Amino acid sequence: MIKAIKGTKDILPKDIPAWNFIENIVAEKMRQFNYKEIRTPVFEETALFSRGIGEATDIVGKEMYTFTDRSNNSVTLRPEMTASVVRALIEHFLDKQQNLNKLYYISPMFRQERPQAGRLRQFHQFGAEALGSNDPSLDAEMIILAYDIIKEFGIKNLTVKINSLGVPSSREEYKTILRDYLKDKFENLSEESKNRYETNILRLFDSKDEHDQEIMKNAPLLLEHLDDESLEHFEKVKQILLSAKVPFEIDPKLVRGLDYYTNTTFEIVSSSVGSQSALCGGGRYNLLVNQLGGKEVPAVGFAAGIERILLACETEESLNLPEEKLDCYIVRLDKELSAKAYEYGLLLRRAGLEVELDYSLRSIKAQMREANRLNAKYTLLVGGEEFENNKVVLKNMETSEQQNIDFENIESIIKIIK
Ligand code: AMP
Repeated sequence: MIKAIKGTKDILPKDIPAWNFIENIVAEKMRQFNYKEIRTPVFEETALFSRGIGEATDIVGKEMYTFTDRSNNSVTLRPEMTASVVRALIEHFLDKQQNLNKLYYISPMFRQERPQAGRLRQFHQFGAEALGSNDPSLDAEMIILAYDIIKEFGIKNLTVKINSLGVPSSREEYKTILRDYLKDKFENLSEESKNRYETNILRLFDSKDEHDQEIMKNAPLLLEHLDDESLEHFEKVKQILLSAKVPFEIDPKLVRGLDYYTNTTFEIVSSSVGSQSALCGGGRYNLLVNQLGGKEVPAVGFAAGIERILLACETEESLNLPEEKLDCYIVRLDKELSAKAYEYGLLLRRAGLEVELDYSLRSIKAQMREANRLNAKYTLLVGGEEFENNKVVLKNMETSEQQNIDFENIESIIKIIK
């Protein structure tokens, strides 16, 4: 028996209403904030991600689905969307056509992580990227947009964490200060942190190791070493969030895994999903477009994980999905009338109604059961004595009221059902 690959999931018809609900809200909110949808290929040249996300990150170092194709090119299933959006922006000169590009996506991503609740190998993200402005109101807009969308799903136990990583020059200065602080503690660090000391020192704040955490507790913070401009930028973001009534916490240790962030970083965390608690993460990345071969285009974005959001919705029982209904089920009373029943079905379907009928010559009782199972609002009974008298019977399943209608009078059947 071949099964789905570990860490991947089938989204079955019973799951689809929740997915559609989420996708519709995302599209609606993105419209309100004037973000336009973009779709990019699922796989890209590996160099896009290794250069864009950074060699020293977990994603590039450990998690990418990278393979050599039959033409000997190294390709990678995208682990996130930002690098792909930036590539598309540069490749299609989107930044030359308009100053500010506001884009959004809902797409599958791939990372070879150890699967657990809320952590998959193929998962789905929705997210947005605004490319072309350094205005702090856009940093705030990203946080507000993500927060408002997640709120729409009815999730209550949310925390918005924000931080600023400043500009690269102040960050480099700070890294020296952090290295100095850690110099005489280096030997006590975990192996992983020892490696990161050289390659990605900010990530030491993310360490799960208790000794590391103890050491990092008293470490100097980047937020205390920001340059004036970055501080002012951060101040403005906070002001807008306050006036937008988005509750937030400042988390000076929120460095996030990716290399490309500058200034604002943020995460939205839920206490309803266990250890994988981040529903959403994002931030400003003013250097990435240039790093990938484009001009200097300041940008900011976020990505949210749909599976984790669904977990939170499940725990909080927050989704109120409308009951699935069918407009009409056609019940064939005589087996010889199958073709006629199908003809009615098609006419009603072409009139825009949701219609089902029996395809396996089942008994009347079985057909009625099926109509109930499908939550049919009406049944159309075709056959019997009525049919001999040129009538069909339309039954309202809620009130049990029945009407005999002239069997050619399709218009009137449609009118009643609609
Ligand atoms: P990241 O790009 O790592 O900041 O991820 C953004 C969001 O995507 C996270 O907050 C999660 O909700 C979701 N996410 C990331 N990795 C996974 C994964 N392996 N499985 C499920 N969701 C994920």
